[in-house]
Amino acid sequence: MVDYPKWHRVDPKSFVLSQAPTKTKEDLDGNKISRKDAYKVYLENIEALKVLQFKMWVEKKTSLLIVFQAMDTGGKDGAIRKCFGPLNPQGVLTHAFKVPSDEEASHDFLWRIHKFAPAKGMIQIYNRSHYEDVLVVRVHDYKPEAVWKKNYQHIVNYEELLADSGTLVLKFMLNISLDEQKERLQERLDDETRHWKFSSGDLKERKLWPDYMDAFQEALVKTSTPSAPWYVIPADRKWYRNYAITTIVRQTLESLDMSWPSPEEGLSKIVIE
Ligand code: AMP
Ligand code: MG
Repeated sequence: MVDYPKWHRVDPKSFVLSQAPTKTKEDLDGNKISRKDAYKVYLENIEALKVLQFKMWVEKKTSLLIVFQAMDTGGKDGAIRKCFGPLNPQGVLTHAFKVPSDEEASHDFLWRIHKFAPAKGMIQIYNRSHYEDVLVVRVHDYKPEAVWKKNYQHIVNYEELLADSGTLVLKFMLNISLDEQKERLQERLDDETRHWKFSSGDLKERKLWPDYMDAFQEALVKTSTPSAPWYVIPADRKWYRNYAITTIVRQTLESLDMSWPSPEEGLSKIVIE
């Protein structure tokens, strides 16, 4: 049985997003960790994750779904690259969910999502996800309230179905401050190699920050469940973000009792000529 870590995990009874830090130096035990030490742990985590992922992939009993949500510039792309880039590419898939196509929009909101649920042995990353249907859809009134309100329960049921089918579900909200977003948007304007990432639409979303925070608050507390918990990661500092995410994924996979498949009988007697 999986044992999801408690560190940075959303407790639906008490969690308040406006009080969750965007910047911290706290390690697992509540002590201060330096950037240098956090980087060391991050590198150790990556090495451990390579072995854990390989075991999961060989064993083919469990799969892992990782959901990333954040405000624009929150660091989803960077976190995916830094935390999962070093793993075996045969065992990791990512999918970025954009504005639904006409075909996607003509189905229920989970139709396009479920297609990407991970097969046994695989890690699947959702860069944005079904949660857009209680975030952007709610903030912009893309659908009536009566429709998106029901999505919380649909989401909980969907994720329970995944969990019942042997999928671990870890959901990361990368929590950045309004000031940090300003700096990151400015960087995208100042650096030619990042111009492609700048979208003036992001400035419109920025103005809706309080509405997004309300939407996140409700989504986090209504859908952080024992079988699919949310983690709110202080993400103003990228080194801390990477350290925290890799630690949580590592601890989750370590809590499984994974083993190598049993070998053919009599291997020790085989002599290769
Ligand atoms: P990006 O992740 O920067 O490439 O942007 C993708 C855009 O697609 C974001 O503005 C999302 O809010 C938007 N998006 C993703 N899913 C949905 C959805 N279900 N309904 C409306 N917009 C969505
Ligand atoms: Mg964007």
